[in-house]
Amino acid sequence: MPTTSTPLAPVPDAARRLHERALVFDAHADTLTEMTDRGYGIDAGPAGTHLDLARCAGGTLDAQILTCFVHPADHAGGYADRVRALLDTADAQLSAWPERLTLCTRPGEIRRAHRAGKLAAVLAIEGGHGIENDLDLLREFHARGVRTMTLTWNNSNEWADGCGDSGPQGDEGPHGGLTARGCEVVAAMEELGMVVDVSHVARTTFDDVLAVARRPLLASHSCARALRDHPRNLHDDQLRALAATGGVIGVNFFPWFLVDAKTASLDDVLDHFDHCLAVVGSEHVALGGDYDGLPSTPAGLEDVSCLPRLTAGLLRRGHPPSTVEKVLGANLLRLFDGDADADTGADTGADTGAGADTSADASGVPGANRPGVA
Ligand SMILES: [Zn+2]
Repeated sequence: MPTTSTPLAPVPDAARRLHERALVFDAHADTLTEMTDRGYGIDAGPAGTHLDLARCAGGTLDAQILTCFVHPADHAGGYADRVRALLDTADAQLSAWPERLTLCTRPGEIRRAHRAGKLAAVLAIEGGHGIENDLDLLREFHARGVRTMTLTWNNSNEWADGCGDSGPQGDEGPHGGLTARGCEVVAAMEELGMVVDVSHVARTTFDDVLAVARRPLLASHSCARALRDHPRNLHDDQLRALAATGGVIGVNFFPWFLVDAKTASLDDVLDHFDHCLAVVGSEHVALGGDYDGLPSTPAGLEDVSCLPRLTAGLLRRGHPPSTVEKVLGANLLRLFDGDADADTGADTGADTGAGADTSADASGVPGANRPGVA
């Protein structure tokens, strides 16, 4: 695919320093799928992949939600087994690279991983059909480290309508939104401490989730529908409602969600950040790159190593460094790691299980002098 004819400007030093200092946390990547199906390790992905440890190094990417995506047709009859296979891939990679990659399941662990210079992995399920309408499976996956789930993929499942088969306005699905069972799933997720992800759901499901969810919601990888009228994107009133829960939208880099075209540019991505920031303010916007799930990437954002260009672009568009640092990671961190003010190094009562690292804040730890991420 041809790239932009104008060479991209180099990343200015100030932007690079901000990017390196910030905890950069992205809300959606399909790297587990790629590794499982193509049989490579997360240390160095083959050509055409978007995310690996080599390309995350040096503060380019510090934390990533790694998704177990269950394609409803390709894995019909074996949804839960597909989740298990992807979790097996995650376990194998976590075991293979303990000094560079770490699983984060409890408050404080993402910040600790950042200080230790490891990529923080948060596990997710994409497509609520992955639990096969069985809350015991939800608990099984939670026990293996899963901390967030999209209630649907594009398909509707037994208890929630997805955006792909609910009509252009998301109100023609089989259930009319979330069923009573779906309300039980949301409640069970929140009871387990999981973040409810509303990317991919139908409009009706979104509205029903708002009515029953008690915790901040995540839309891990969506864009602004005011700029690109696509069912995967969120209307401005949805963005405001999401923000009112304390939630976060991760802006997707998928060209087809950004613009009505097969290709897009870094500026198109920045347009969606600008819009979301204008609608909901600095506390509710994040990265949702969809790397390793993108059939094509915006010119200038070809893989995670390009993320400093996004930082430079946000600064160039006039967003203050404090806002950029929130967008890069602090906002998403709030959903998974709690309030940055609680980051004293002494874990709270909820986070003192076996293996808790109580020495992480000792001076001398790389990055220990980073400013707070609030
Ligand atoms: Zn998706």
